[in-house]
Amino acid sequence: MPIVRTLLFALAAAAIQFPPPAVDTPHRPAPEWLSPYRDAAARLLGDAMASDAAWQRLAYLGDTFGNRLSGSANLEEAIRWAVEEMKRDGLENVRAEPVKVPHWVRGRESLEIVGAAPQPLVLLGLGNSVGTPATGIEADLAIVHSFEELEAARDRVKGRIVLFNVPFTNYGETVRFRTSGPSRAGALGAVAMLVRAVGPAGLRTPHTGTLTYADGQPQIPAAAIPAEDAARLQRMVDRGTPVRLKLMMEAKFLPDADSANVVGEIRGRELPDEVVVIGGHFDSWDVGTGSTDDGGGCVATWEALRLMKKLNLRPRRTVRVVLWTNEENGGRGGLAYRDRHLAELPNHVMMLESDGGVFRPTGFGFTGSDAARAKIRDLSTLLAGIHADGVGASGGGADIGPSVQQAGIPAMSLDVDGNYFLIHHTPADTIDKIDPLDLARSSAAIAVMTYVVAEMPQRLK
Ligand SMILES: [Zn+2]
Repeated sequence: MPIVRTLLFALAAAAIQFPPPAVDTPHRPAPEWLSPYRDAAARLLGDAMASDAAWQRLAYLGDTFGNRLSGSANLEEAIRWAVEEMKRDGLENVRAEPVKVPHWVRGRESLEIVGAAPQPLVLLGLGNSVGTPATGIEADLAIVHSFEELEAARDRVKGRIVLFNVPFTNYGETVRFRTSGPSRAGALGAVAMLVRAVGPAGLRTPHTGTLTYADGQPQIPAAAIPAEDAARLQRMVDRGTPVRLKLMMEAKFLPDADSANVVGEIRGRELPDEVVVIGGHFDSWDVGTGSTDDGGGCVATWEALRLMKKLNLRPRRTVRVVLWTNEENGGRGGLAYRDRHLAELPNHVMMLESDGGVFRPTGFGFTGSDAARAKIRDLSTLLAGIHADGVGASGGGADIGPSVQQAGIPAMSLDVDGNYFLIHHTPADTIDKIDPLDLARSSAAIAVMTYVVAEMPQRLK
């Protein structure tokens, strides 16, 4: 299981660390074969842009249910609400498909400098971390800036609380210290691990996220601290001040809990067994309201179906929205979808996941055959009016990943221009960071792309 988990998290990281989309020849002239879809595309764009329905729905989700970690009552109540709302929208075959999910709880946590002048620090425990004993762990601090320095400093690390003080460069490069840092430090006898939060420096805002304990290594408690607190500790150590810290974390796992992927459809009018799947993950970390990661992706894809339904656009093939559960700390929703729909996967025409935020959309990442890419490039010209006509080098997502790999399904993701990593996994992931117009553009882009892929006579392949 840990290996599967490691792979999943590598996948999840890979899915969201794309460089800015490589936009190939934007604003190309629209090819002739798209003429039959021009009217529907204009209606979808017009209706999406004239409404703040998606933003209002996302605001309601966050305001009412709050954050939605796997195993929480918040998530399950939000799932029940989403099922009812999808039915109210007139979607078909609306259902919750059961998934067992890990149930990690944070509990109380604190970090302080102890000694003659005690000082509290800001922290946010890492997801899936073990806790400390009830009385906490008190130890001297050792700071390192790379895995190489950690290995070289093994004598200095034993019995200490180790801080990886590594400035954020990009997610893929920096997240390694969060995921493997605890086991790397634990293997050398460290008693706890701190990591400078993985994200651009914000306003003393820590980022949580999962760690991955390596098999056969001691499991030590681990937490993130904001850049400001990491810099403060660094200055003290540089000044020659011995720093002693006390870390207390109640974090623990409870037995696996019941959860579900939420599914809704517009059945195809000619080829209902061929399915285009779009969606996001409905769970979030247990801070903020998960509005960017990934309530926005859920609502934007869901909105695409609502718009089609409202405009009475029933494409040739079935369009299905899926709100996956447990992306953040287990990936069980994506695995359960693959297993439950295994027989049907060969009929999955395309899968699209939006999990990079719903800021101003620039287009879509795409992974598939050259012929399919050429089709998508043509099709994206329908989005030139909202400047969302880029086609990036690769597309995918952590939740669609298992199905895409199983059946070689063309995969897409929404590409956006926004400061996703400043916000994600923090208490600042709230609706006010999302511009209603950007969310409307995102919904519009997804609606047009999805509708035409589901409608065009030849299957995308
Ligand atoms: Zn996410």
